[in-house]
Amino acid sequence: MRIILIGPPGAGKGTQCQKLVNLLRVPHLSTGEMLRAAVKAGTPEGVEATAYMEQGRLVPDALILGMVTRRLEAADCRAGCLLDGFPRTLPQAATLDDLLERRAMSVDGVIELAVPRDELIRRMLARKRADDNPEIFSKRITSFEEQTAPLLDYYQRQGKLASIDGLGTADEIFSRVREALRRFARAQGRRAHRPSPLPDV
Ligand code: AMP
Repeated sequence: MRIILIGPPGAGKGTQCQKLVNLLRVPHLSTGEMLRAAVKAGTPEGVEATAYMEQGRLVPDALILGMVTRRLEAADCRAGCLLDGFPRTLPQAATLDDLLERRAMSVDGVIELAVPRDELIRRMLARKRADDNPEIFSKRITSFEEQTAPLLDYYQRQGKLASIDGLGTADEIFSRVREALRRFARAQGRRAHRPSPLPDV
């Protein structure tokens, strides 16, 4: 299964991704983590990305697409993967669709973790991480609203979006995530004109 998790910074994507990876047993592709590793290793991509990341801005599409394409072509991604923090712009989403289509693959479903801005700020202040500068954090939310939120419409039109409430405990949210997965499996079954192998809920 190829699943995308979309949500603003502080929505709880990391926690839900861990749970999803344990359930689905597919590689977890986090572009934020790939970039942080590149910065730490001092690669040319890391050097280019640093200024953007420090300012809470998105790094250029070309850099991200090069990185993700290489990763998606690896053998362990053939059976599926969990995409976290990618795509984040419409050109990234369109390129991903093209890339998968050329390999007779597609995105199976997109899960949006919806959390209001005031709750995101409240969570950020409560956890007080060293890299949680309030000004930068708020810039990251704005870049989500301006550049990433349009993807929700893009995937909605493809009938692949499940928007779930990101408020509650991690387990409560995860049960909504599982419900979304069942919905994706049913939709896939309908597209293939056969019943889904997963039970209805
Ligand atoms: P994250 O850990 O996913 O919040 O990513 C941390 C930072 O890496 C973001 O604030 C961006 O600067 C950059 N980044 C991660 N993924 C992407 C992406 N798909 N497109 C552009 N920039 C990204």
